[in-house]
Amino acid sequence: MSSEPPVDLNPVPAAAVPAWQPPRVTPAGGKSPHVEKALSDVRGKIYPRSVSGLFARWRVAMVVITQLIFYGLPWLQWNDRQAVLFDLAARKFYIFGMVLWPQDVIYLAVLLVISAFALFLFTAMAGRLFCGYACPQTVYTEIFMWVERRIEGDRLARIRLDEQPWSLRKLRIKASKHFVWILIAWWTGSTFIGYFSPIRELGMGLLTLSLGPWQWFWMVFYAFATWGNAGFMREAVCKYMCPYARFQSVMVDDDTFVVTYDHVRGEPRGGRSRRIDHKEAGMGDCVDCSLCVQVCPTGIDIRDGLQYMCIGCGACVDVCDTVMDKMDYDRGLIRYTSGRAITDGLSQSQVRKRLLRPRVLVYTSLLAIIVAGFVFSLATRNPLRVDVIRDRGVLGREVAGGMIENVYRLQMINTSESPLTLKLSATGVPELAILTADEGTDTVQVDAASNRLVPVVVRAPAGTLTPGLHEIELTTVGNYGSDREVTVVERSSFFVPR
Ligand code: SF4
Ligand code: SF4
Repeated sequence: MSSEPPVDLNPVPAAAVPAWQPPRVTPAGGKSPHVEKALSDVRGKIYPRSVSGLFARWRVAMVVITQLIFYGLPWLQWNDRQAVLFDLAARKFYIFGMVLWPQDVIYLAVLLVISAFALFLFTAMAGRLFCGYACPQTVYTEIFMWVERRIEGDRLARIRLDEQPWSLRKLRIKASKHFVWILIAWWTGSTFIGYFSPIRELGMGLLTLSLGPWQWFWMVFYAFATWGNAGFMREAVCKYMCPYARFQSVMVDDDTFVVTYDHVRGEPRGGRSRRIDHKEAGMGDCVDCSLCVQVCPTGIDIRDGLQYMCIGCGACVDVCDTVMDKMDYDRGLIRYTSGRAITDGLSQSQVRKRLLRPRVLVYTSLLAIIVAGFVFSLATRNPLRVDVIRDRGVLGREVAGGMIENVYRLQMINTSESPLTLKLSATGVPELAILTADEGTDTVQVDAASNRLVPVVVRAPAGTLTPGLHEIELTTVGNYGSDREVTVVERSSFFVPR
């Protein structure tokens, strides 16, 4: 392991520094040799330098929180079962006290709509915050880079190691890194599969090497994807594969809080001695140390303006603040603020006020309405579903006792976690009676979180009805929990033969 040399704050003479160029998506050249060197270093393979500061601590906190949830959630138990399990084989989704069936796909669709609106809202307010702090690609890249730094050292040590010819030492270091990466990737892949297949059984199957072929396949697939994306692809995923990077520009405007270089304050940039009064010398606050480029995980220069490759991680904010501290200048040369704040010289409180603009209010209102509707609908969800299927083989017939009989099948789904005792009744025709075909009763038991197909017969006295179809209603009533009653009324038709 090795550490970085002390920060050189006087890298190039001021005279060699070009004037600041307006923000552009593609850097158009004209940079100092020092920055060109830094950029050529990072544009091949990117070797981000480690950084500490407020936003680095936030990123670590988000890694810890998201991973505690991701790795821990499948091990939580609820009512003697896995609390969160998307059981594809049984076609049931367990989410704590809720059991969703394929018929509940509307809730998943609404959840996607909520996620989309939340993304629009947060992007309109604060750019790619999700990318910088909570996106799995960023989070796993952070974890893998942390391992890499612990084993190979910081930026310069990694560059030197990669430039060295292969030796036993290099092989040992690289093998150690990949061993730890593969362990993390394997754990991540296994955990991911544990959301779709009971994780305790999965753990036992893994120990005894008795998993099924599909479990092996998906586990290896996700482990490989994690290893490849976080170990090798890294920023390329954010730059070239992520669609969000491409369409974020339509959601961001001049009032969005994004990581911004204050060119008014920073230009003209250039190296200088701490002892000179740079303002008197006609210089801006940027000392052109290129550290903001060296720490950037996507290898861009934020001084070129907002670029779609910027994931808003704030690493350049942290490092620039340390430079400003060393130079005894005010912090915030690079900061989270809006483009308008820089061009119009707005204060942070004025910028914050402008956050509440029409598009943000529209997104917030829509999101609030959809979330309220979603929660209300879930809270008042009827846990009993009944579908009436007419028996097409026996439309209607006269049976002993002078009765007309129709046969139906009731497809009953109990989505609650309590067994249901249900009472059946039929109305719409005088003296209509309903009984289960197997047991001859008007009550049915449906176990917790299960479904049942119940054949029933419905009878009415012959001679009281005209031949043809008569509309009827089949009612199912039951209780679940301590005192909640469920009722489902389904329409069907009763056929009277000639
Ligand atoms: S913006 Fe800050 S970190 Fe970047 S080169 Fe200028 S002084 Fe250095
Ligand atoms: S420019 Fe700054 S905020 Fe954007 S990705 Fe690079 S380091 Fe992160």
